[in-house]
Amino acid sequence: MNAVDPATLYPCFLGPYGENDALLESLTVEFLRDHVYWRRNLHPEDMPVIPTGANRSPAFLDFEARMRRELHQLSAALKRSVPFHSPRYIGHMVSDLLLPGLAAQMLALPYNPNNVSADAAPVTIGMELKAGLQLAAMVGYPADPADPACAFGHLTSGGTLANVQGLRLALAMKGFPVALVRAGAPLPNLPEGVHEAYGLPPARQRELVVAWQALLAEMPAADRRHWSAAVERERIESRGIAAFHARDDLQVPVVLAPSTAHYSWSKGVKMLGLGRDQLILVPGRSMRLDIDALADALTGLRQRQVPVLMAVGVLGSTEFGTIDPLDRLADLRDASASQGQGFAIHADAAWGGYLATLFRNTDGSDRSWAMVRSEFQAFPSREVHAAVLALARMDSITIDPHKLGYLPYGSGAFLCRDQRMISLLAEGADYVFGGTAEGDYFSRHRNLGRYIPEGSKPGANAAAVYVTHRVLPLDSQRFGRLQAASMQAAEAFLDEARAFIDRIAPHARACVPFLPDSNLVCLAINPRGNTSLLRMNRFMRGLHASLSADPTRTLQQGEYFGSITTLRRDAMGEEDTRRVMQAIDLPLDAMVEGDESLDRLVVLRHTLMNPFLLDEGNGSSYLAGYFGFLERLVLRAIAEPDAADA
Ligand SMILES: *Cc1c(COP(=O)(O)O)cnc(C)c1O
Repeated sequence: MNAVDPATLYPCFLGPYGENDALLESLTVEFLRDHVYWRRNLHPEDMPVIPTGANRSPAFLDFEARMRRELHQLSAALKRSVPFHSPRYIGHMVSDLLLPGLAAQMLALPYNPNNVSADAAPVTIGMELKAGLQLAAMVGYPADPADPACAFGHLTSGGTLANVQGLRLALAMKGFPVALVRAGAPLPNLPEGVHEAYGLPPARQRELVVAWQALLAEMPAADRRHWSAAVERERIESRGIAAFHARDDLQVPVVLAPSTAHYSWSKGVKMLGLGRDQLILVPGRSMRLDIDALADALTGLRQRQVPVLMAVGVLGSTEFGTIDPLDRLADLRDASASQGQGFAIHADAAWGGYLATLFRNTDGSDRSWAMVRSEFQAFPSREVHAAVLALARMDSITIDPHKLGYLPYGSGAFLCRDQRMISLLAEGADYVFGGTAEGDYFSRHRNLGRYIPEGSKPGANAAAVYVTHRVLPLDSQRFGRLQAASMQAAEAFLDEARAFIDRIAPHARACVPFLPDSNLVCLAINPRGNTSLLRMNRFMRGLHASLSADPTRTLQQGEYFGSITTLRRDAMGEEDTRRVMQAIDLPLDAMVEGDESLDRLVVLRHTLMNPFLLDEGNGSSYLAGYFGFLERLVLRAIAEPDAADA
C-alpha cells in the first residue's frame, strides 16, 4: 500500500493555510486585466462613457463609500462561515476547492455566460457538453461524439435536479412507445398493445425512438408533420399523468429506491406529479440495497400489474457512504425485461461518482480489482469494484462535481446512456430530428435550455468543471490521486476509530454502526451503564454541539468540525438494529418505533475528503488529533453530564 504522494496534491488547492495565495492572486489579477483588455478592444474607437474624473464627484464617492462599508461587513460576516477548507473540518460533503475550478469560475464570472443556449454562451455551452462527455468516459459510457449512440451529459444546479432529470427522461421514454401505439404510428415492429408498450425495457424504448426518428426523417415533409403531431398528442408530456393513464386501465408507475435514498427522490416523484405514494423504499442489508428484497417487490408489483418506472441504486449513500450492488441491479433489469416488466435503472452517484476515476486507467480501460486494491487496506471490496464498473450499464446517472469533484456549488451533472433520447425532453418537437439533425453533437445539443429543468444557468460553473477535468483528467493517475488520498484517509480514520473505541471502553461503548464502502464514517457512542436511548441521543447531540461551527462563538474555539445523522430502526432493519444496539450496550426495547425521539439513534457522521487529513506537520495527523479531541469531549461530558446536556 503506497500513500498518495502529497506533492501531487500541493498545487491543487489554495491550501489550509492559504499557502498558494500568490498563485491564485496572480491568476486572478492576470485574468481580471485580461477581461478589461477584452472590453477595451471591442471597439477601441469608442470614447469611455464614464469620464475620467467621475470618481471624484460626491455622488460617486458616496456610492463607493457605501459599497466599501457593505463589502467590509460582508467580508467580516463571512469570517463566521464554516471552514470547509480545513483538515479540521470532517462534517458535510465538502472540502477545499480545486484551484483550476475556482480560478476558471472567477475568470468566467465577469463574462456572465448563460448556458441556456449557444446564443447566450457561445463558449461555455461547448464546455458544458464536453464536461458531460468527460464524465461519460469516466463512467464507461460511449463518449465519442461521432458515435450516434454516444452518451449525453449536462450540468444541473446539483444532484437533486439531476435526479429529477433522470425521472423525467425515464418517464418520457416509458411513455413514448405507448404514444406510438395509440397514434397508430406506421412502424413495422410496434408492440402488440398499450400494456406491452408500457412494459418495454429501456433498450427497446431506445430502439423504437431511434427507428421512429429515422422513419420520420425519410418521410415527405407533410407526412412528417402529420405523424409527428399525431404521436406528440399521445405522449405523456402532452396528456398529463391523469389522462395518459385513464385509458386502457394503465396504472401510474412506481419508483423503487433503497431505504438510504436521498430525499431528493421524494421531491422528484412529487415534482413529476407521480406522488409520494409511488416511491417505494426497498429495505436494505447493512445500508446497501437488498437485491432479493427488490426482486420480491418487483414480483409483487408484476402480480398487481403495477408498472415500474425506475429502480434507483446509490453509489455512495449520503449518510453512510455505502454502495449498492449496481451490477446486480443491472442484471435484475435485464432479467425483468423478459417478463414484460421493463424499467430504467438510475445510479445516484451524486456523492461517489468521482470515485470511478480510481477504476479507470489513463488509456480509458477498466482497472482490475487487484490493481485498485493495491493502494488500500480494504477498499474496494469485490462488490464495490463490480458496482463501479457497472455504472456503464446504467440508463442514467447523477454525479455532483460540487461534492467529490471539489468544485464550487451549483454544479451537479446528469448523464444518460444515449444522446438521441434527450430530445424527448425538448420543448418543441425537435425530437423529430434529434437523432438525424444536421450538424455534429455539439451543434445538435447547443440549445440546452430546451432539455434542462432550469432556464438560465451559469456558464461559469461549466467552465470550472471543464477546465478542472482538463487539468486533472478523470483517471486513476490524475483526478484519481485526490480520490485515493480521500479513501486512504477514510481507512486511516477507521483505524483511529477502532483504537478510540478500545481506549474509551472503560467509560463508553462506541461502534462504527455500518462499515462504509467509501469515505463517510459514522460513530455511535453511549456512556457506560446508560440504557436510555433518549439520554444517549442527548449525549450525542451534546458532542455534536462542540463539533459544529457555532455562530455565537469565535470560530477558533471549535477545534474540529463534524456532523450528525440518525439511524432509524425501519431503515436499519431488525438484524442491523439488534447488532448496533448490542454493540453500544443499549437494550433493543430502548428503541420504540413511531415515537420520533425514540425510534432513531443519533450518530456522529464524518466525511473524509480533505486532501490533507494525513498531514503530520503538527506532530500527528488531523485524524489522530480529532480522536484525541473527541476522547476529551466524551470524558468531560461523562464527568459533567449537565454541561453536555445543555
Ligand atoms: C448530495 C446528494 C444528492 C443531492 O445533491 P444536491 O447537489 O445536494 O442537490 C442526491 N443524492 C445523493 C446520494 C447525495 O449524496
